[in-house]
Amino acid sequence: MSAPLNRAPSSGAPSHLDGHLPADHALSPQWQYRDFSLVGRFLSDYPVQDLWDTDFARLPASLARQRRRARTFAEQYLAPVADELDLAAHLPPGECHPAAVAVLREAGRQGWLSYFLPRPLGSMPWSTLRYPAIWQCSLIVEEFGRACGGLMLLLSAHHLGAMPLLLSGNARHIVRHLLPVYRSCERGDPHLVAFAITEPGAGSDAEDGHGAATLQPGVVATPTAGGWLLNGRKCYISGGDLSKSATVFAALQGEGMASWTCFYVDCASPGFRVARTELKMGMRASGAAELELTDVFVPHDRIVGALRQGWALNRATLNASRIPVASMAVGFARAATETALEFARRYTLGGKALIHYQDVQLHLATMVAETRALRSLVWQEARAAWQPRQLHASLAKFHATDRAQLVCEMAMDLLADHGGLHEQRVEKIFRDVRLTRIFEGTNQVNRLSMMEDWQAQLLNGDQPVGV
Ligand SMILES: Cc1cc2nc3c(=O)[nH]c(=O)nc-3n(C[C@H](O)[C@H](O)[C@H](O)COP(=O)(O)OP(=O)(O)OC[C@H]3O[C@@H](n4cnc5c(N)ncnc54)[C@H](O)[C@@H]3O)c2cc1C
Repeated sequence: MSAPLNRAPSSGAPSHLDGHLPADHALSPQWQYRDFSLVGRFLSDYPVQDLWDTDFARLPASLARQRRRARTFAEQYLAPVADELDLAAHLPPGECHPAAVAVLREAGRQGWLSYFLPRPLGSMPWSTLRYPAIWQCSLIVEEFGRACGGLMLLLSAHHLGAMPLLLSGNARHIVRHLLPVYRSCERGDPHLVAFAITEPGAGSDAEDGHGAATLQPGVVATPTAGGWLLNGRKCYISGGDLSKSATVFAALQGEGMASWTCFYVDCASPGFRVARTELKMGMRASGAAELELTDVFVPHDRIVGALRQGWALNRATLNASRIPVASMAVGFARAATETALEFARRYTLGGKALIHYQDVQLHLATMVAETRALRSLVWQEARAAWQPRQLHASLAKFHATDRAQLVCEMAMDLLADHGGLHEQRVEKIFRDVRLTRIFEGTNQVNRLSMMEDWQAQLLNGDQPVGV
């Protein structure tokens, strides 16, 4: 949806930007090599490509296919309902907007809720298994984020919830717990899994360990016959209002945070309650739920990993998920840049389209360069994605999300008064991208995490510090 704009005149409009040579001019960058030698032409020829697809050619075929599919799904199912869900009234726990339900159903059927495992367990094609799942996830969330931040979070938080089960490497758990989840999603009956670490008194501490030594655990597990009783509260849990199960991290009774253990909780268990959902500034299509657990019984065989292994599992999960969070930021930056470009082409000022003003061109060039640089950063840090490391994951997360916000601000600057209007999309992207700087650890805490992982090298005076 776009607001009526002063449209650039369609006839008699120049075929090139003011101050630049037309593309068919002998001196234009595309044609100046026309009369060059064969070798020269071969070396200097370049195809005219779209702004974001220059890396398609270098992507392995299976990943390029995956990205195309994700883009098609996002454009067909996410973008058309993004505004409706953003502006919809805040719903109480237990209620879900019909448009979000329809998206979840279709996403499940198409395999977007089960792509972390190859067939026959999940929906990922075998051909992509040669590459880290983080790469696919990054490609997918970039496309989803470009279409709608809220729906992207709704779909992605489910994978975050399932991640501890996958990372525990327990085949019995994967078959017993994750397989039914994936089957249900593929049937069009979405079974979402939430990831629950944040507690009213513990956000960053729980994610990175800063302050964990003195932290009083908010959810505590007490032993009982055949299992454990969980008591306490978790907050800001994405999708927690709709989830049928959750990976809940809790400390053991009488022990500190070092005893953190991950429990796979059935949300239909007696004592489990969604206390409320938050009205967030952005990403509104995804609920942020406060979960209340009162003597929720969890049998022994639903401990994910092992007792007291929760801390490691949490860190491993976040190391795997922060690179995709950086990719979400790329998606937002792309969306903001595309909107600004479109605006600059259509909006006229002083009788010509905005894009013909040189300072607007400088502005747009910076936005495009920033966005492309962010994508390069993501793939640079994702090279080690078979064994994701805190250093790479935190760096990519904080830098990409910070810079993406800057790109969105530049779009707001360019659109001026139109930027503040909902119809132009930029203000929504601006609200959505802001939240990526908070979740999965605030960006300040991610900076500390990066340094924490690097400290051994930084403090070892005998070793040169290579970056
Ligand atoms: C949209 C959204 C979705 C979310 N989804 C989930 C989810 O699905 N599951 C889940 O468990 N949580 C989720 N969260 C919660 C999120 O992970 C936390 O909000 C985040 O980790 C920050 O924690 P906090 O809000 O408790 O801030 P706090 O940890 O209380 O931090 C407060 C301030 O102190 C700073 N700070 C903290 N520690 C240090 C330190 N050692 N040194 C210097 N500064 C410090 C922080 O940077 C921040 O500025 C979500 C949050 C949002 C906004």
